[in-house]
Amino acid sequence: MKYKFCPECGEMLIEKELGDEGLIPYCNTCKKPYFEKVGQRSDKLRYIKSYYYEKHELLMLGYLMKVEKGDFSKSIEVDELKWFSFDDAILKLRCGSIGEKHLLNYLKCI
Ligand SMILES: [Zn+2]
Repeated sequence: MKYKFCPECGEMLIEKELGDEGLIPYCNTCKKPYFEKVGQRSDKLRYIKSYYYEKHELLMLGYLMKVEKGDFSKSIEVDELKWFSFDDAILKLRCGSIGEKHLLNYLKCI
């Protein structure tokens, strides 16, 4: 199942070419894509913070997405997927990584 309408404004989504992702559902009103890379679906998305990844000159937008736990399906950009508790996740993330910063920023918000 794909998103057909924007979860935020209700507008019908269009298909838009987005980099190496190919055609993805996109809201022209909110200027946001709606797609998944790990097979989890949700309409509860919350922006946390943006991070600059200097090595590749990328701006990474950090969101929290609440999902109903389901089977993973990964894109070619994802190497491995597993569920972790927050306590276990913080131990697995590389110190100083964007992943660690994002998790710590999220935990400050709750
Ligand atoms: Zn929208």
